[in-house]
Amino acid sequence: MILILLGPPGAGKGTQAQRLQDKHGLIQLSTGDMLRAAVAAGTEVGLKAKAVMERGELVSDEIMTGIISDRLGEPDTKNGVILDGFPRTEAQAEALDKMLLAKGLKLDAVIEMKTDDDILVERITGRYTCANCGAGYHDSFLKPKVEGVCDKCGGTEFTRRSDDVAETVISRLKAYHDQTAPLLPYYRQKGILKQVDGMAGIDEVTRQMEDALQAI
Ligand code: ADP
Ligand code: AMP
Repeated sequence: MILILLGPPGAGKGTQAQRLQDKHGLIQLSTGDMLRAAVAAGTEVGLKAKAVMERGELVSDEIMTGIISDRLGEPDTKNGVILDGFPRTEAQAEALDKMLLAKGLKLDAVIEMKTDDDILVERITGRYTCANCGAGYHDSFLKPKVEGVCDKCGGTEFTRRSDDVAETVISRLKAYHDQTAPLLPYYRQKGILKQVDGMAGIDEVTRQMEDALQAI
């Protein structure tokens, strides 16, 4: 199964992708995570992406489609993937269509996580991640059961993203509305767009995701 989670930064894509990965054995492909790994490793892609990401703008279509095309060629993706953060432009969506066609694969569904912009700053500035296993948390909305200890792996080190500050949220939201939201009619026209209420609590969103998947 190939799924796209579509929504603005902070909508809950990563949170739900982790749950779908754990439950259904699909592989989460987060282009943001891949770019952050490239930045940390100091690769050529990382060097090109770093400043763009810090400004809250989009990395070039050429780099992004190259990353996803390479990743979809790896054997662990054969049982299905959840695309989290890709595609983000019409050019990326068209490139993905071509890529899947060439590989004999098909896109099963695009799930829009509908959210109001005014809650996103609080979601984004409260976000943090286990440094060991990457599990996501929030200062108010998703705390570990034992303070300071990751529920999944018992890790005690956590990280926050350098772009998760209120100043970048405005440019990231602008990029979403200008360049990514136009993908909604693109996928609606193909008859594969589904919606969940991204404003609901995390467990309720998961329930709506499962309902959407049942219908496929
Ligand atoms: P995205 O991947 O779309 O940028 P995340 O999944 O990282 O968003 O979620 C952003 C933050 O908001 C995280 O800290 C997460 O724990 C929290 N969060 C995710 N979904 C919800 C929700 N439905 N209600 C409240 N908080 C949420
Ligand atoms: P995310 O982790 O999805 O919030 O992405 C973090 C940042 O990585 C974004 O603000 C962009 O700068 C960059 N990025 C991630 N995915 C893409 C993409 N598909 N196209 C362009 N830029 C991307």
